[in-house]
Amino acid sequence: MNQKFTICLICKLPGFREHHLCRHCALELRLLQSPVVRSIEELVVRSLFPWQAGDKMCFPDLVYALKGRADPHPWFELAVWMVDQFTMGGGLTLIRRPIVVVPIPGSAPNHALGLARAVGRVIGADVEDALLPVKKRSQKALSRGDRQAVEFRPRGELFCTDYKTVLIVDDVITTGATAGAAFRALNRPENCEVWCLMDRRPCGVHDALL
Ligand SMILES: [Zn+2]
Repeated sequence: MNQKFTICLICKLPGFREHHLCRHCALELRLLQSPVVRSIEELVVRSLFPWQAGDKMCFPDLVYALKGRADPHPWFELAVWMVDQFTMGGGLTLIRRPIVVVPIPGSAPNHALGLARAVGRVIGADVEDALLPVKKRSQKALSRGDRQAVEFRPRGELFCTDYKTVLIVDDVITTGATAGAAFRALNRPENCEVWCLMDRRPCGVHDALL
C-alpha cells in the first residue's frame, strides 16, 4: 500500500493514508453512493451521488475541496467508485475500446481534468483536454437563463473518430446544458456517455431530473 501524508478532503483530518479521504469520511461517502442516470438529448448521464441542496453537508465540502485540483490523486478513490458503479452488471467489456476521456472545461486549473485523468488511469483510457470555452459576454452580464447557454469549441482537430467510446466527465451536473454543449462541440460522437460525481438537484426535487 502506498501511504502518504494527506489532509482528508471532507473533515480536514491529517494522516498517513493511501487516498485523500479518512476512513470515516470514505465510509460515510461510500454509503451515500446512489448512482443516478439521466437522459439529456441523446446522451446518457451517470452520476455517483444525488445531491440535493441542504441534505448532505459533506457534498459541498467535497466539491469545494476538489475545485481546481487538476492532478488526479485526490480524485482517484472517487474515480474507482465511479467506474465500479457505472460499469456494474457487465463491466467495462460493454464499453468498447479504445476509450478517450474528455473533461468539461472549467476554471484554471481545471478540476474536471483531474477527474478525467483519474478515470483514465482506472480504466486504461486516453485523456484529451480537447475543449475550450467560447468566450461570450461576461458572466455577470448574463441572466440566469443565458448563463446556461454555454458553448465550447475543439482545442484542435477533432479526434473522436479514433476512439470507439467517448466519456465526457465533470464534477457536478445540474441542468445538463454544459454536458450537451460539450457533446455538440465534440461533433456528437456515436458512442458517448457523461460521467459525473454529483447530480445536483434544485430544492424540492427528489427524483432524477429528466
Ligand atoms: Zn475525513
